[in-house]
Amino acid sequence: MKPPPFDYHRAQTQDEAVNTLMNHGSDVRVMAGGQSLMAMLNMRLTQPKILLDISGIPELNYQTESSNYLSFGAGVTQAQALNNARVVNEVPLLGQALPYVGHMQTRNRGTICGSICHADPSSEIPLVLATLGGEIVVRSETGQRIIPIQDFQIGLMTSARRPDELVVSARFPVARPEQRFSFTEIARRHGDFAIVAIASCCDGKTTRIGVGGVADTPAVREWPRLEPDQIDDALNELAWDLGGYDDIHASARYRRELIRKLGRDQIERIQNDQD
Ligand SMILES: Cc1cc2nc3c(=O)[nH]c(=O)nc-3n(C[C@H](O)[C@H](O)[C@H](O)COP(=O)(O)OP(=O)(O)OC[C@H]3O[C@@H](n4cnc5c(N)ncnc54)[C@H](O)[C@@H]3O)c2cc1C
Repeated sequence: MKPPPFDYHRAQTQDEAVNTLMNHGSDVRVMAGGQSLMAMLNMRLTQPKILLDISGIPELNYQTESSNYLSFGAGVTQAQALNNARVVNEVPLLGQALPYVGHMQTRNRGTICGSICHADPSSEIPLVLATLGGEIVVRSETGQRIIPIQDFQIGLMTSARRPDELVVSARFPVARPEQRFSFTEIARRHGDFAIVAIASCCDGKTTRIGVGGVADTPAVREWPRLEPDQIDDALNELAWDLGGYDDIHASARYRRELIRKLGRDQIERIQNDQD
């Protein structure tokens, strides 16, 4: 299939993009890397009147550190982030997760913010942001607002962004020295979306885990540091709480088992590393 006709608008500046959104709102679809959007257009899952291409806006292509965050402008591709040494050192969970996101070819165009806006429950990047408790910055003609990630991804491929708003950046909290992280996923083939993805973070006092691929949005739980004899019970309760679902790739039962097994491996490893 091919998309129905649309007008193509390539914005040169952030102001121009925001102005187009204000004037045309829900008739517009923003395109960043196009790696998910092009497929949706071809399948006619979305039929915008205007395609607003933001990939050529220089002021959206930045990776900057500010107080406690590493911020990625909406133009930053997943490949640019992966090649940034600061990501590996300062947001190691993102550094661990990025190689699982699609393939080198898709990462060359796909953006960090585009993946978050797309809000696929199996996506690695929104899972990392949710596990770390990051934020999204959106801009409209009336100003800027900062949305905690748990309030941004509100359902299956649904975000809290208003039609007149542009996501301008995503803020990933910088790791503290006492924190340890781990990311793993099981997918049918490398580069496929995860059947289950697990991201973990321990700081000596708390154990935090994020699960993707099981619910409509990434599910994050935090406990006071789990002792070895508490890990299985905590993960079992989490697995049953989330439930999982059956599809052509895996059963709900298999998904629950992955939460228990991958979760335990990660928590034991990073907590041992801390001791
Ligand atoms: C073969 C293949 C394999 C893939 N495998 C994976 C995988 O394993 N894991 C994974 O997570 N993803 C995977 N993807 C998807 C890929 O990571 C995309 O890059 C990502 O989902 C979307 O990023 P994008 O920049 O291409 O966004 P686009 O496709 O341009 O946009 C996606 C959505 O976000 C909206 N949007 C984008 N940017 C903004 C913005 N700044 N403000 C407001 N709305 C915005 C668009 O309107 C659209 O609705 C795969 C894609 C392909 C083609």
